[in-house]
Amino acid sequence: MVIKMEIGRAFLIRAPEDSELPKFVEDFAQKKRIEAGIINIIGTLKDTKLGYFNSEKGKYEEIEVHGMRELLSAMGNLSLKDNVPFAHIHAVLGDDRGNTMGGHLLYGKVFVAEIFILELKGEKLERRKEGSLYLWPSTPIH
Ligand code: ZN
Repeated sequence: MVIKMEIGRAFLIRAPEDSELPKFVEDFAQKKRIEAGIINIIGTLKDTKLGYFNSEKGKYEEIEVHGMRELLSAMGNLSLKDNVPFAHIHAVLGDDRGNTMGGHLLYGKVFVAEIFILELKGEKLERRKEGSLYLWPSTPIH
């Protein structure tokens, strides 16, 4: 299934200190009626919870990261889940030695977050439950 889309609006915004990052992006998307898009974020997080998807258990193992980390790179997308915007974001964090770790961003308490959202408009991109994950339709190449 190919979902046809084209580029819509572009937003460059900063999340307020102490906001919760994936939730802030989802709330902003809902307010601006962004149903699909591409997300790109850099900044600094105070506390972070990363996820590693354990496919055997069918759930995320949680990795708690306490204290300030550079949010070196977070990328993701927006789609609809249960008819509201859902942000799927992966993050790479850096510590004071330049060491990195990363994963699926489950939670992030913002110190600074500079967020770029590029809206995609077109057919609805909806996540549906498939096994233990919420996925949008796959695209077979014939
Ligand atoms: Zn993920």
